[in-house]
Amino acid sequence: MKVKIATVWLDGCSGCHMSFLDMDERILSIADKIELVYSPLVDHKTFPDMVDVTIVEGAVASTDDLAKIKKIRAHSKILIALGDCAVNANVPSMRNPIPVDEIINRAYVENALINKDMPVHPALPPLLKRVMPVHEVVKVDLFIQGCPPKNDTIFFAIAELLEGRVPDLTTMTRFGA
Ligand code: SF4
Repeated sequence: MKVKIATVWLDGCSGCHMSFLDMDERILSIADKIELVYSPLVDHKTFPDMVDVTIVEGAVASTDDLAKIKKIRAHSKILIALGDCAVNANVPSMRNPIPVDEIINRAYVENALINKDMPVHPALPPLLKRVMPVHEVVKVDLFIQGCPPKNDTIFFAIAELLEGRVPDLTTMTRFGA
């Protein structure tokens, strides 16, 4: 049976997903072992009942992120924090010293040249007071540092997991690399 893999995009720039795609044709060498069941890269809209490995890019920054990551954790056997935003909140957390209202006002009113207005659409999830790394909200099983992590590192981690081993990434990643 194929290993079910999901990838999730919280508050990140998609650079980690781009690095995931940079595995290029090496994906073919593991393609017969995996099934990508949920991801921004495929069309599935609903997170499955249970996924073997979920790879999370980005930090937890909004009420939507918070609900999503809790649900995903409950439906994932192994959860991987991919990239520095997921691992330590990185770039999104730069707003943490500033109150949320001030940040939004700065972006949508003070710095706007036209349509100066606060965003109020009900579909917009409220921002959390503080951006958090994934492990502050749910249990994380594997951390892959880097901004973004190298495609070699991501491939190694997945290949090791598929062989039933815990990947040793100590010499392969570091913050910002
Ligand atoms: S870790 Fe870097 S590349 Fe990945 S989402 Fe964050 S800013 Fe983008």
